[in-house]
Amino acid sequence: MVVEVLRLGHRGERDRRTSTHVALTARALGADKILFTSEDDHVKESISKVVENWGGNFKFEVVESWKGYVRSFKKRGIVIHLTMYGESVNERIDTIRELLKEGKDILVVVGGEKVPKEIYELADYNISIGNQPHSEIAALAIFLDRLFEGKTLYRDYPDAKIKVIPSERKKVVVRK
Ligand code: SAM
Repeated sequence: MVVEVLRLGHRGERDRRTSTHVALTARALGADKILFTSEDDHVKESISKVVENWGGNFKFEVVESWKGYVRSFKKRGIVIHLTMYGESVNERIDTIRELLKEGKDILVVVGGEKVPKEIYELADYNISIGNQPHSEIAALAIFLDRLFEGKTLYRDYPDAKIKVIPSERKKVVVRK
């Protein structure tokens, strides 16, 4: 099973920092891949540097048609759109976790400034992380942490060049 994240509505320079943080959050909390709807060499480069130094096999991809991607993904897995208007994560997460355990792939969709209305229909589940407006980064982090029940937070990356050794008071980093 794989967990992918589709970031809708990346608008180049204006969204660069947020989109990079969406991608890094996806990786750090256990997703396998981030998909953007437009090219951004800057974001791509930042992600590939993190993967090179911190390890793992996280992928960055650009999809030509997000609707086409979502439709084809639905043949092999389930699509979850995170939106403040959706059903409560508290009430739905067990169902979604079961589907993951059964081996279904999961595509988590997060929006940007404006969200195309078709995604509400195309998604299998529209899930809210509370019904207050906040951010795609926060929504994604909470959703993935709930999905993986905290297990991906301290994953070991055997091929990492840099590792943090948790410490009570100081920065401890080992480099290969
Ligand atoms: N005005 C946008 C709309 O039409 O929904 C909201 C944009 S919000 C800045 C960007 C993204 O953050 C949303 O598309 C959604 O994926 C995520 N988000 C923000 N608040 C959320 C919440 N309470 N629950 C789930 N996702 C949320």
